[in-house]
Amino acid sequence: MAQINENYFKLQAGYLFPEIGRRVREFQKEHPGADVIKMGIGDVTQPLTPSIIKAFHEGVEEMSKFDTFKGYGPEQGYDFLREAIAKNDYHDRGADIAADEIFVSDGSKCDTGNILEIFGMNNIIAVQDPVYPVYVDTSVMAGRTGDYLGNGYYKGIVYMPCNAENGFIPEIPKSKVDIIFLCYPNNPTGTTASKTELKKWVDYARKNKSIILFDSAYESYISDPEIPHSIYEIEGAREVAIEFRSFSKTAGFTGTRCAYTVIPKNLVATTSDGSEKSLYSLWFRRHTTKFNGVSYPVQKAAAAIFTPEGKKEVRSVINYYMNNAKILRESLTKLGFRVFGGVNAPYVWVNSGRGIKSWDLFDKLLNEANVVGTPGSGFGPSGEGYFRFSSFATQENVMKAMERLGNLKW
Ligand SMILES: *Cc1c(COP(=O)(O)O)cnc(C)c1O
Repeated sequence: MAQINENYFKLQAGYLFPEIGRRVREFQKEHPGADVIKMGIGDVTQPLTPSIIKAFHEGVEEMSKFDTFKGYGPEQGYDFLREAIAKNDYHDRGADIAADEIFVSDGSKCDTGNILEIFGMNNIIAVQDPVYPVYVDTSVMAGRTGDYLGNGYYKGIVYMPCNAENGFIPEIPKSKVDIIFLCYPNNPTGTTASKTELKKWVDYARKNKSIILFDSAYESYISDPEIPHSIYEIEGAREVAIEFRSFSKTAGFTGTRCAYTVIPKNLVATTSDGSEKSLYSLWFRRHTTKFNGVSYPVQKAAAAIFTPEGKKEVRSVINYYMNNAKILRESLTKLGFRVFGGVNAPYVWVNSGRGIKSWDLFDKLLNEANVVGTPGSGFGPSGEGYFRFSSFATQENVMKAMERLGNLKW
């Protein structure tokens, strides 16, 4: 008899975004005329820019002609894209990453989940709390955790609280951990980590032979020149870190799909008998076996992000979102919220300052202001009392939403 992967039953049914969707639909059914402003889900809203679209079209044209048609490409991505990434995202920032250490993929969501496949089952996984839900849920599905404990925690995962008190930088765990998920600029808190803070983690990982899985999906939103964009800007990181990057938030590729994962060739982990083996070669094997590459026109479109025109255009879209973030920050501060993030990241993380729980605030904003955000508790127990506003909206809607919040009765 075929047996099912019972780990899936440990997952919590009321997953954050479906639950938000359900409440919004219910509200709209009861109030069909209401103009609901959505600032919840982390999806971009501005279209692909002209240079990207031009390259995308050219790629499609090439596919239409015998001489330029392409079938399967290299699983790890075309050299033209990997070289552009290595130069622009790493060498130009003083980080030593070679083009062939880059694996182009169809998304960081998949990569951050799939990467666990190359690690043994007995690793202790540590996550930030609150956290991008993918790291935890994929660990649960793979049977790397125990049961759900009922209060937002799964058994067997080490949760590292990130809150206003510690500046949203987790403390080094007291017990030894093997795999550490770090996300900076952070989703959901919109906060960043300095080189000094990241150095502490790199040093910890070197000392304990742990691996850092560094998700920098939002690096392009960094404006402060002191904030590192990549973990490889930190000395020693090549020995301990894998990095995930995506064009989704950088250049509006959420629906187009292109991302990449970096694994330095010298990165190792140990076998049960204690010998050190390359993680690069395992991921290479995994990627070439289970993945057949990102479509050629998409990779061409992605490479256009690195042209001078492309860079300018993408920057201007990011500036548009970051201006929304500024409006959010200033308005919410004026309205008495405690406001975090939103300076080097598109998310503004707030505490109502009025002792209201996340979902209660969600319902209040939906019902009384017709504004949708994301309840912080949905990202982890330490998110309770917090709320996430996304700047991926139109400026008009951001201003309208803030005006409505100004009229709320507390
Ligand atoms: C949006 C996002 C990603 C990107 O995922 P894709 O699958 O590349 O679209 C990765 N990590 C975090 C934390 C994100 O918010």
